[in-house]
Amino acid sequence: MARVYCPHCGRLVDKLIEGMCEDCYIEKYPLITVKDKTLLKCKYCGAVYLRGKWVRARKTGTEELVKRILAEKATVRGIVEKIDVQEIGNKLHLHVTVKGSPHPLIAERALAYQIEFSYDNDICIDCREMLSKREFALLQVRGTPRGLDDAMKKKIFQIVEQELYKLKDKRIGYISDIKNTENGVDIYTTSAGLARHLAYVIHKHFPSQIVETAKNIGVKDGRRLYHMTYAVIIITYKPGDIIVLKGERKSTISINNKFIVLYSIETKKYEQITIRELLSSKPLLIGNS
Ligand SMILES: [Zn+2]
Ligand SMILES: [Zn+2]
Repeated sequence: MARVYCPHCGRLVDKLIEGMCEDCYIEKYPLITVKDKTLLKCKYCGAVYLRGKWVRARKTGTEELVKRILAEKATVRGIVEKIDVQEIGNKLHLHVTVKGSPHPLIAERALAYQIEFSYDNDICIDCREMLSKREFALLQVRGTPRGLDDAMKKKIFQIVEQELYKLKDKRIGYISDIKNTENGVDIYTTSAGLARHLAYVIHKHFPSQIVETAKNIGVKDGRRLYHMTYAVIIITYKPGDIIVLKGERKSTISINNKFIVLYSIETKKYEQITIRELLSSKPLLIGNS
């Protein structure tokens, strides 16, 4: 067979397909083309809007969700063999391997493509409904007498993250905002149940107490609506702190999640009291020995 030059890349090849070599043809007609590179995503639960419905990865699995995204937003000529998914910021990066052929004269083969979608933030129907019920709640985590340091805040975020992972299949609400405050963190949730649950989980990890407050914010459908706040007060005393408790100077010896051991500087006696007792006696930190 006479060999010919490809007018596009200049290579000498056996045959031309529609005026170009196989490689140039494959490059010009990829097995996957994206029609629309944007995806509407719920900023609270991560659901993606596809074919008029909000689809959640936790229900379908990530691979199935990505397949549905490709089915709606792209044209695939062939069989999707493998998909690697990476989410960075508001971008969804896909590494897709498709097996197929762009032309009957080209033998079928597996070809890899990099595809990128950008997310546009929105709020899905479920989250919109949850927000409209105004059952949002606030979880405040605070330190006393010292504010929470960065290491403590980091640990709290880890606990919250682990807990959300455990709860991912339950419809218990979402975190709508997290604010770093000077001596603690504020976590806003779309349900009082989630805020309460997280409050108890954090409470179990630290010497602390939970203070619950309900603020009446009106009536809807004959039902009183409350805005709940759960405050987790974490004790940040250190061994060697000098405190005044009920008028007596004491030094802190040790602290665990339930008790604090104190040494009375005046009576030279040791005592163990609960974290709750300590907090209700409103101790005053006056120094560290
Ligand atoms: Zn060529
Ligand atoms: Zn949502």
